Amino acid sequence: MCFADTLTETDDTVTAYCYCGWVEYGHTQESADAAAESHQNSTE
Ligand SMILES: [Zn+2]
Repeated sequence: MCFADTLTETDDTVTAYCYCGWVEYGHTQESADAAAESHQNSTE
């Protein structure tokens, strides 16, 4: 099971990432939270 989290970058974009290697850059805080939650809920 994945546990995704978010990280605010120095340029104020938000990165969503997971220990499994999944990562998405350039989010806002809202969209990063949504992406992280979506990733956690996918069982692929
Ligand atoms: Zn993951």
